[in-house]
Amino acid sequence: MAYQEIVGVAGGGLMGVGIAARFALAGHAVVVAESSAERAAGIPAVAAGILADLLDAGVIDAARRDAALARLRVAGAPDALAGAALVIEAIPEVLAAKHALYAQLEAVLAPDAIIASNTSGFPPDALAAHMQRRARFLVAHFWNPPHAIPLVEVVPGSATDAAVVERSVGLLAGIGAEPVVLQAAIPGFIGNRLQFAVLREALHIVRSGAATPETVDAVMKACLGRRYSIMGPFESADLGGLHTLAGIGANLMPELAKDEDVLDLMRAHVDKGELGVASGQGFYIWDEDRIADLKARRLRQLAAK
Ligand code: NAD
Repeated sequence: MAYQEIVGVAGGGLMGVGIAARFALAGHAVVVAESSAERAAGIPAVAAGILADLLDAGVIDAARRDAALARLRVAGAPDALAGAALVIEAIPEVLAAKHALYAQLEAVLAPDAIIASNTSGFPPDALAAHMQRRARFLVAHFWNPPHAIPLVEVVPGSATDAAVVERSVGLLAGIGAEPVVLQAAIPGFIGNRLQFAVLREALHIVRSGAATPETVDAVMKACLGRRYSIMGPFESADLGGLHTLAGIGANLMPELAKDEDVLDLMRAHVDKGELGVASGQGFYIWDEDRIADLKARRLRQLAAK
């Protein structure tokens, strides 16, 4: 395998370990800097579990899994990332903590190293506000779980060098991700805006009494989910005929949810301690069978790629 740059990941939580596993699988030596000693100790096992998913799905064999695990190193302090050409920051969504980490990273990284934040929502200019080398900073927003969802939303700040965007896109494409570059930083980037637009209407339908959550989920899985895995909404509109879609939209748009009160439906569950899978109950009861069934569906999708 050709030489692959060293990649650093700051924060070895839910996202960081998945991102690290992806880079290691693609042949990069990866260093994960995790500040909690307890979490750090568990990272090899978490990474092995992620790779086991890919092994079970037949995406990789045992030799690739073992080679990827051998390329992963875990450290405590961010200075362990000194040799990295790219550092993905995946620490909690706290702006001051991210600022403090970037100062530590800039003190140890090579001047041409790239720092990319996996933030869910902070705009790149707010993240880079106190940085010395803003030209080498951008957002690279992975989705959960990073080993199964290929999208990475790349969001340059106003000072980001175009060559840094190009280099980051190249590195991400090299690990089999599907990076897209936004022309402007908007809240929620693209994926979360689309996700919440769908969720708002799904909640509205249930609130109206027209259908249960099960029925809404069935419609998504049997129809739109399949369509959207092979074409986007604009391709789909072109296929349906723009004149037809404009006509349907004119009738339907006034009927769609526009309020934020739909979230009350979720808040009612939260108030009862029903958080979803985490508490065993949300819109569904998450017993072992339901969790195993979802895992089987995920593995089938991974295997189909
Ligand atoms: P997490 O809490 O699971 O993991 C964060 C880890 O960072 C923890 O293990 C914590 O100990 C560690 N940490 C904290 N400060 C640190 C520091 N200074 N140096 C090194 N390690 C440090 O969080 P997560 O869900 O992985 O989210 C990480 C980032 O990714 C957040 O910005 C989040 O908004 C974003 N994100 C999350 C998801 C998701 O679905 N969870 C999806 C996309 C993006």
